[in-house]
Amino acid sequence: METIYLDHAATTPLDGRVLAAMTPYLKESFGNADSRYALGRQAASAVLSARDVIGSLIGGSGGSVYFTSCGSEANSWALKGVCAANFGKKHTIVLSAIEHPSLLRAAEDMSVFGYKTVLVRPDKDGVVPAAAIKRALCDDVAFVGVMAANNETGVLQPAAEIYSLCREAGAFYFCDCVQAAGTIDLTSPVADGMSFSAHKFYGPKGVGGLWLKKGARIQRLVSGGQQEGGMRGGTTFVAGVVGMAEALKLACDGMKEENERLASLRDGFVKHVLSRVSARPVGSQNRLPSNANIAFGGVRGEQLVIALDMLGVAASTGSACSSGASKPSSVLLAMGLSEEEAASCVRFTFGRENTPANAEAAAEKVIAAARRLGARML
Ligand code: PLP
Repeated sequence: METIYLDHAATTPLDGRVLAAMTPYLKESFGNADSRYALGRQAASAVLSARDVIGSLIGGSGGSVYFTSCGSEANSWALKGVCAANFGKKHTIVLSAIEHPSLLRAAEDMSVFGYKTVLVRPDKDGVVPAAAIKRALCDDVAFVGVMAANNETGVLQPAAEIYSLCREAGAFYFCDCVQAAGTIDLTSPVADGMSFSAHKFYGPKGVGGLWLKKGARIQRLVSGGQQEGGMRGGTTFVAGVVGMAEALKLACDGMKEENERLASLRDGFVKHVLSRVSARPVGSQNRLPSNANIAFGGVRGEQLVIALDMLGVAASTGSACSSGASKPSSVLLAMGLSEEEAASCVRFTFGRENTPANAEAAAEKVIAAARRLGARML
């Protein structure tokens, strides 16, 4: 039985063209980008051009790209690095309640240094109101974190509005773009800092990045080598950054057409399921084209995911990082869903390998699994 993969927000398969671009740097061109001889210079030149390509697609010319090992590292570095640079001067962090754990937990870590965190809740549609961020801003705020698109609901956030509020207040605005990169145009900066991760756009796992606006005040992450402008020492993952650049270029080249195709697949799937099962989509429709999050009232999402797995459909109950835990999603609870309804939600995220035929087959399997678990049928 072939798996129908509907969990692209968790990770995406590596594109064959990306693997082809990476392979020489894992084999014959294996040099350390800091070595002075030809093999090293070859690697350094590949890293330079990867940085240029990514910089032209994320953030534009007013800043710099720093490579990291993943999105979590970039998020954690941004928050802790900016807070460390403001140590003793400012004491407040403002985060939306729907941020990724890598940002929420990093803020908790900063409490030992005297930082307190103000959490701003989303509205019932999963949107963090810019007006609520405005109310939380004051001279004491060092760091504001509101993501571009949420990983569980796909709902887009008012980043541009928040950026302009933060600029007025003199606070550093960080936007987690891990779910947005490759799907939303980020060629102009939407914040002072943005994170991204290759495995979310058909690149390799284990490589990501942080874009920082020129002049951003931030503490370095890893002391030691002069890699990443001395901000993050450590031998560069040459094949990884080459793959990330290639993956981002491919995603951005076909972005508009692919987004339209995904939205149409997703909408057809949701309509099909809702025509037969008593369920409701969760979150604003102003969301990533790949994402559907459905509350199957009365059915436990976890059980539905297991039943779907047995039928050959891969979906998830929330972010992959928290799916080991059986607590209902804190994102959905923050949106005001009851514990029972939040626990009934399943996230389906579409991607390149999905077709109208396999989306329809998946919808039939969702209907069959929901019926077996006692969902109310229409
Ligand atoms: N931020 C968001 C919004 C995410 O969805 C994820 C991963 O799911 C991350 C950050 C962490 O990225 P990584 O898996 O590269 O650490």
